[in-house]
Amino acid sequence: MITSTDWLLSDSLAPVVAGDPLEPLYAGASRGALVLPFCGGCSLPLDLEQRVCDDCGSDEIDWLETLPRGVVHSSTTMHRLEPGLVTATGPYPIVDVELDGGHRLIMTTVEPAAGTPRIGDAVDIAFRYLAGVAIPAAQTITSTDTEATNDNH
Ligand SMILES: [Zn+2]
Repeated sequence: MITSTDWLLSDSLAPVVAGDPLEPLYAGASRGALVLPFCGGCSLPLDLEQRVCDDCGSDEIDWLETLPRGVVHSSTTMHRLEPGLVTATGPYPIVDVELDGGHRLIMTTVEPAAGTPRIGDAVDIAFRYLAGVAIPAAQTITSTDTEATNDNH
C-alpha cells in the first residue's frame, strides 16, 4: 500500500538528508530558500555534483542562497511510471530550468501540471515535500507582469 505525501514519488524515495552531499540544499529548502553550490574561489555557479570549478580549478564550494526564479531551458513529459516508486497516475513533466543566478536545475513541477511547461516559460522555484523533505520544484508564473518585475534598470 502506498501512502505517499508527494503527488509524484513514493515516500520510500525520500533522501536521507543527514550526510547527503546535497544536505545544504535540503537544509535551505526546509526554510523555503533555494541554496545551491558556488565556487569558493571565483563564485561561478556549480552543478550539484561538481567538485572542482571549471573556471579557476578551486575545489572550495560555498552553498549560498540564490534567486528562486528562472526560465525553462527544456522540458519533457515522462510517460514511464515505475510501479511502487512513481505514485502519479499519468505522465508527468520534467523541466530543465535555467535559473536567474546562473545554475541549471532539473526538476518536476510543484503540482501535477495540466501540461508540461514550455521552453522560455518563466518559473518560480517552490518546493514539493517528499516524506517531509523539501525538494525544489518549478511553478509556472501565470501573471502577465513578469516583464515589468524583471525590468529593474
Ligand atoms: Zn572557480
